[in-house]
Amino acid sequence: MAEDERSRVAPESSSSPNPNPCPICLGPITQDSYLDQCFHKFCFNCIVRWTNIIASKHSCGPSSVKCPLCKTENLSIVYGFDGSSFQRHYVNRDLRNSEFFSEAHRYRLKCYYTEPGNLADKVKVSSYWKSHKYRQQNRWLHDWLRREIQAVTQEEDVDIIVHHIFGVIDSFRRDAVKHSKISTETKQEEFKLLVSQAVRPFLMGRSDRFVYELELFLASGLKIDAFDRVYIKHLGWNIPEISKGEEEEEEPDGTHEHEPSIPYLYILDQDSDDN
Ligand SMILES: [Zn+2]
Ligand SMILES: [Zn+2]
Repeated sequence: MAEDERSRVAPESSSSPNPNPCPICLGPITQDSYLDQCFHKFCFNCIVRWTNIIASKHSCGPSSVKCPLCKTENLSIVYGFDGSSFQRHYVNRDLRNSEFFSEAHRYRLKCYYTEPGNLADKVKVSSYWKSHKYRQQNRWLHDWLRREIQAVTQEEDVDIIVHHIFGVIDSFRRDAVKHSKISTETKQEEFKLLVSQAVRPFLMGRSDRFVYELELFLASGLKIDAFDRVYIKHLGWNIPEISKGEEEEEEPDGTHEHEPSIPYLYILDQDSDDN
């Protein structure tokens, strides 16, 4: 019996080619970063985003964060160790006080860590491609890109990234008009590949999700705030600051059957200090 238990808790090491993946993204660790108390190791971006998402759950910013693995309280993330010096990122950097990081930004950030369900069907992404709507310009795209990239990177100054991504999307659109013989499926795949390659250096683990969100936004043909309302309605977790004063937010048919979607990472933090 004791033998059994021991083998069950033994770490699995040989089965995977990547024996020490980042516990958050499960990929190889990029930019080694450690929590300062328990010394568990993560990608820098993964652990920073993790702590920011945890922070966004609290009404007042916490000055520490529980390790997603061992639940030890940690005050900072240690990174950039080069043998003699290191850098430190404190958990209590409070985005709430940053003017650019609105409730909409916070909501969108959570969306990127939440299972989107069947939104692509609802928004009819496939008919967007089939009916060649991708050839049309979307006049809200620039602002939308800016908001999304700010939300995911949690950086205010993203102009150069937005400029780059916008350029990639717009040149794809202009080329697509010229090369009308290429099949729609090929075009869609090409689009997804181009955009994901362009955003990957900045959005890393969230890149594919960004492409998914971009397709949703473009296919919806909606303005940014209308797009947000569709999302809020679909995911069923409401952000009061966004819906305040929005009459259309009321469900017309009075149904509220949507189960709230649980962001992936919260699963690790079920017994947090919410209650
Ligand atoms: Zn990671
Ligand atoms: Zn830990």
